[in-house]
Amino acid sequence: MQKILKVRIDNVSLDEAAEKVLKWARGWGWRKKMVTTPNPEIILEALKNQKFRRALNKAGLNTPDGTGILWAAKYKRITEKNRSKFIKLVKWIFSLLTVFFYPPYIRSEFKERVTGADLVMEICKRISENEDDRENLKIFMLGAREGVAEKAKKVLEEKYKGLRISGTWAGTPLPRDEKQIIRKINDSEADILFVAYGAPAQELWITRNLKKLKTIKVALGIGGTFDYIAGVRKRSPLWMQKIGLEWFYRLIIQPSRIKRIYNATIKFPLKVFRSTVGS
Ligand code: UDP
Repeated sequence: MQKILKVRIDNVSLDEAAEKVLKWARGWGWRKKMVTTPNPEIILEALKNQKFRRALNKAGLNTPDGTGILWAAKYKRITEKNRSKFIKLVKWIFSLLTVFFYPPYIRSEFKERVTGADLVMEICKRISENEDDRENLKIFMLGAREGVAEKAKKVLEEKYKGLRISGTWAGTPLPRDEKQIIRKINDSEADILFVAYGAPAQELWITRNLKKLKTIKVALGIGGTFDYIAGVRKRSPLWMQKIGLEWFYRLIIQPSRIKRIYNATIKFPLKVFRSTVGS
C-alpha cells in the first residue's frame, strides 16, 4: 500500500486484483466493496474533491492504473531520505527521464500497472474457467454510450464461454436516473457490477448506491473499458502500453484529450514534486 497525494493505492498484481474481486463476489456480500483504478488524473481530481478522495480511500481496492502512479511511488521512495530541495529536483528530472529511457526503473514499488480494461477481462476469463463461478456469478454492465455496453457484452460472452452478463444499461450518472437503474440492477440479480461513467462520476455513483443494490457484492469503476471491448475506441499497441506510452497514443488519436494529458504528464508530476518539498 502507498499513499500518492493522499490517495491509497494498493500494491496488487492483475492476478491478485481479479482474485480479490472474485473472492468478494463469491461471498455473502455483508460488506459490499468498491474497486477503482486510479490514474494521475483521478488523483488530481481527488486532491481538490474531498468527497471523492474519501470515497477512494474507503474503497476495498484501488489498483495502480497509469505509468504516472508507478513513477510517483518510485520518486517518493528515492527522495524519502533527502532533505535538499535541489537533490529532490535532480531526482525528479532524472526519474521522469527514466519513464522514457528506462521504464523498468520506475516499476519497483508496485507489482504492475492494473488498468480497468485488463481487470475486467481477467475477471471474465476467470469466471469462464471455473465451473462454480460460471454457474453462480452474474455481471451487470452499466454506462457508456447507448448500445456500447450491449456490444461489449456480446464480445465478452463470445470470448469467455459460459460467462453470464445478466444486464446492460447506458443510463446516466445523474441522480434522477438512479431509481430506474437500481431497479434494473436488482432485477438482474447480478453479483458483480461494472460502472463506466468515467471518474469521478462512476465512483461517486457507486458510493451513493452500493447499499441499495441487493445482490451486488462488488462494484468496479472502469472508465472507458466498454468502449475498448466493443471496439468503438482502440487501445494503444501492446508495446506502447508496455513502455508506458499509452497516453502518447491517446493524444495522437484523441487530440481533444489534450487537457487531460497535460494534467497527467505535467501537472501531476509537479504536484508530486511540490508535495515532497512541502510547499
Ligand atoms: N460516460 C457515460 N456517461 C457520462 C459520461 C461518460 O456513459 O455521462 C462514459 C463514456 O461513454 C466512456 C466512459 O464513461 O465510455 C468514460 O470514458 P473516459 O474516457 O473518461 O474513461 P477513461 O478510460 O479515460 O477512464
